[in-house]
Amino acid sequence: MKKVGITGGIGSGKSTVCRLFADNEVAVYDSDKEAKRLMNEDCALREAIISRFGEESYDADGLNRKYLADKVFSDDEALQALNALVHPAVKRDFERWAGEQSGDYVVLESAILFESGMNEMVDITLAVVAPLDLRVSRTCRRDKCDEESVRRRIAAQMSDDELTRRADITIVNIFETDLEPTVKELDYRFRNVHQ
Ligand code: ATP
Repeated sequence: MKKVGITGGIGSGKSTVCRLFADNEVAVYDSDKEAKRLMNEDCALREAIISRFGEESYDADGLNRKYLADKVFSDDEALQALNALVHPAVKRDFERWAGEQSGDYVVLESAILFESGMNEMVDITLAVVAPLDLRVSRTCRRDKCDEESVRRRIAAQMSDDELTRRADITIVNIFETDLEPTVKELDYRFRNVHQ
């Protein structure tokens, strides 16, 4: 079974694109969501996080995201350490999940497809990009946050130029009405073209 990795920066519309693939009966693995689940449910991962970052990493409700985010914010070494624990667990879980799916192909959604090395686990990589100001306004509208913080988060991510250079296919997401036919065409191609 083919695996398609979909990535893009904040507000590019990768989740919207993935939702359209799901509407075409394609199974989608949301690596961000699954990483959070694994940090709560995978006992070995949980133990490793506690031993590196302390008992405060979890509270009565499970993962203490605020505490961990503060720990890794502006501490690159801590962020690398957390990634080195979480990424292998997500990779294992994705392989397991993909093995359970049926159909011609599956989709892996990841904001950090290339940074995490998960690009190496898929057959085709697809980047969703959009003009910067559009990404900022979409994100502000969605998250009700300020423009400055969105621009800062975007600046810390891989640029659209770099994503376009690395990915096999790029979708430029400007008009919502264009997305559906684009995804339909790609769906046809992924099902029928053997590469
Ligand atoms: P993040 O990494 O922040 O989760 P994302 O890349 O997954 O972002 P989406 O959540 O898919 O982005 O899109 C961001 C917002 O922009 C959403 O509210 C979505 O509905 C809207 N959006 C996406 N594409 C378009 C478009 N072509 N036209 C108008 N709105 C759009």
